[in-house]
Amino acid sequence: MLTCPNNPEHDTFVMTAFVPETWILNSDGDCEEIMENTDEAVDSDLGNARCQDCDAPAVIVYWEDENV
Ligand SMILES: [Zn+2]
Repeated sequence: MLTCPNNPEHDTFVMTAFVPETWILNSDGDCEEIMENTDEAVDSDLGNARCQDCDAPAVIVYWEDENV
């Protein structure tokens, strides 16, 4: 998921790194068109997302899936 380093309540991010448009992401990094178009590149490109509220670089947080 994506988090804001400045405020965990910020949960909307924008990504402009590799497409000519600005993508709006939620805290899970969900963006259907990105998933369809870039697939494997998503994780690394999410590192270029920025918080929409304060423009801080988004932090990608991974976690163990305890449900498997
Ligand atoms: Zn923020």
